[in-house]
Amino acid sequence: MIENIKWLGHASVLIEREGKVIYVDPWKLKTAKKADLILVTHSHYDHFSIEDINKIMGKDTVLISTEEVVSKMGKGVVLLPGEKKQLDWVEIEGVPAYNIGKSFHPKESKNLGFLIKFPDSSIYIGGDTDLIPEMENLKADIVILPVGGTYTMDAEEAAKAVNIIKPKYAIPIHYGDIIGSESDALKFKSLVKESEVVILKPE
Ligand code: ZN
Ligand code: ZN
Repeated sequence: MIENIKWLGHASVLIEREGKVIYVDPWKLKTAKKADLILVTHSHYDHFSIEDINKIMGKDTVLISTEEVVSKMGKGVVLLPGEKKQLDWVEIEGVPAYNIGKSFHPKESKNLGFLIKFPDSSIYIGGDTDLIPEMENLKADIVILPVGGTYTMDAEEAAKAVNIIKPKYAIPIHYGDIIGSESDALKFKSLVKESEVVILKPE
């Protein structure tokens, strides 16, 4: 399952599984495949790029995102934190994503993290978030979290989140562009206890 995940730089992730293509926060895409599902965590320009979405959007592509993104796109399905959407091949659950003690991502914005549930495994991608209490009840086989700090968790907080969730694998993102560097990913890796940290090369 871990081999189905590609990091496209910053917060962009591509998941390909059993012929299905999922993009999360597509931005600065170097290649574009027709997506079955596009998930956008929130409306900040480094996560929500209409230009990149248009490159991968086909007539059957499902876009799931916040109210603001869906309204700006003029299409898509609104998902609120805590809600679930069942497609015939995957279930998507909205997880809250917000800052604590800083104002970049207020809880009231209803920004999203996503829990992507396949029949046999699950992936949690945090979005722009701090370590929040909602993570304590979360179960996922693979966790993808921001480590760059400032606007999101830093390496230390992200490692703490992984040590709480205890997934099989953890992947650091949200570094190497705008904010954060590879040293944040390495620090994250050094602080995670039981899960295997996989540092991907941006593609
Ligand atoms: Zn943001
Ligand atoms: Zn961001």
